[in-house]
Amino acid sequence: MKPVNDIYSDLKVNADYRYDNFRIEEIGSIKRIAEDSYLEAPVWVGGDAKFVCLFIDLDNSSKMSFKKHPKTMAKIYDYFTQTLIDVLSQEGIEADYIDIKGDGAFGIFEGDNASFRALSAALTFGTFFKKYIRPKFQDDEHVFNFKSAIHTDKLLVKRIGKRGSRNNNEVWAGRLVNNSSKLATLSKEIYDIDRDFNPSTGGVLVISEPIYQIYRTKHEFAIMHCGHDLSGNPQPRSELWRRIDTSNYDYVHDDVAYYAPGLWCDICQDTVNEGLLA
Ligand SMILES: [Zn+2]
Repeated sequence: MKPVNDIYSDLKVNADYRYDNFRIEEIGSIKRIAEDSYLEAPVWVGGDAKFVCLFIDLDNSSKMSFKKHPKTMAKIYDYFTQTLIDVLSQEGIEADYIDIKGDGAFGIFEGDNASFRALSAALTFGTFFKKYIRPKFQDDEHVFNFKSAIHTDKLLVKRIGKRGSRNNNEVWAGRLVNNSSKLATLSKEIYDIDRDFNPSTGGVLVISEPIYQIYRTKHEFAIMHCGHDLSGNPQPRSELWRRIDTSNYDYVHDDVAYYAPGLWCDICQDTVNEGLLA
């Protein structure tokens, strides 16, 4: 090994070089961060373009309940997280960037239809979870659940690591991913204030105010409930989203958010999907 003072001096020269040459490059596509040229250059990618993030992970209580059983936890991650990635990769949804975070994953969407592809992914995963994932892992003692959110913002990100090796990963300095994750955490407040929602009724999908405003442009499919319960029985057609005042929750960026069960009904899923992705 080199004398440590030589190591320090090399590290400092390199770090100062990056610091002095730091710049942010405007990007229109998140796919650019995969390019190797960004790995060693002191260039972060970001700019004014807005991207959409869908964040989904296991609910806290689910984590607690399986804490003592690594093998059970591994089976859950395999079933839950891999399925989530598979949903984000579905034709038509095709998140532009997918990564694992904590006990779940997130997808970044770009382009005109970004927020609607994210909604379609959230609904598809939510319904699959309720039908197949939860029944597989639910036990008598604990409610097995997930939380999810969709948000839009600028991003600032860089892949940091060693060129030519697999030891590199994206570092998200912008707030898009973090704020999406925090919005998802609102589910615990929602369970407290809204009696129609609790962990045993299934995961809540939370969306931020700017996402809600985008959804209003496809009112019929993204704002209105289809008019059936989950089994397809007719119900009065009403607005899907409920409003929550978030001004008291420090961890949420905006003063208002919206939430819904985030599930398809059995009859309308393909129709709503087509409407969303059209
Ligand atoms: Zn329906």
